[in-house]
Amino acid sequence: RTAARVVDAVKVYGGGDTAVRALDGVSVAFPAGCFTAIMGPSGSGKSTLMHCAAGLDTLSAGAAYIGDTELGSLDDRRLTLLRRDRVGFVFQAFNLVPTLTVRENITLPLDLAGRKGDQEWVEALIDVVGLRDRLHHRPSELSGGQQQRVAVARAFAGQPDVVFADEPTGNLDSRSGEEVLGLLGRTVRHTARTVVMVTHDPVAAAHADEVVFLADGRLVDRMTAPTAERVL
Ligand code: ADP
Ligand code: ADP
Repeated sequence: RTAARVVDAVKVYGGGDTAVRALDGVSVAFPAGCFTAIMGPSGSGKSTLMHCAAGLDTLSAGAAYIGDTELGSLDDRRLTLLRRDRVGFVFQAFNLVPTLTVRENITLPLDLAGRKGDQEWVEALIDVVGLRDRLHHRPSELSGGQQQRVAVARAFAGQPDVVFADEPTGNLDSRSGEEVLGLLGRTVRHTARTVVMVTHDPVAAAHADEVVFLADGRLVDRMTAPTAERVL
């Protein structure tokens, strides 16, 4: 089963002489239950691929799917609902709500959707990320690593089809980064959920089950973990 995929994806920014072809015919499937890393040099199109696959941005040509839903077939309202209810996000900058407690931040996607969610799932997540004794703290009272662990729990709270993570360790020291990556990997393995992570860091990519490589807006290689670990 495929949690998300893009087919013949093309993304052009701008027009005329200054147009940039950020994606130049990329087809890639993200298997359900798999932790996939997207790697490549700066400017190779990693963020663009993630944003288009996640419905944060639209393709110029080709198609992007979450499950069987083609994102281009949705109007803005339906796209917003799909992102809210079926997709989770982890960003480099944590993006927590400063006025809410840890618990409120974690359940925010459910609260916004007016969903009760699966309480056992949420409690299990809180334990997996190791923040049970911080539930009433605000983000400013936490370390960067702890804040990103809240963001990971929030991303999974609504049991999304796929969680997209954009350089999730970019603002963390290496030890906190390792913790967050281990957490992402464990959450995928224990829950059979899907993670797609953009990173330029080989150490981060080594936590993934599969690594896809972009260069100049094209997919140039794809390897499963044992090979990836050997090469990296
Ligand atoms: P990466 O994430 O691998 O660093 P990006 O997807 O951010 O790559 O960028 C791919 C290419 O598209 C780069 O040449 C970048 O300058 C360009 N690009 C990205 N976003 C925009 C934008 N909003 N407007 C114009 N060009 C952009
Ligand atoms: P970058 O990693 O390139 O700095 P940003 O964190 O600025 O990316 O976010 C990139 C895109 O994702 C923007 O279009 C922004 O509006 C959107 N975005 C940022 N945070 C969230 C969020 N929590 N939920 C949904 N979309 C978000």
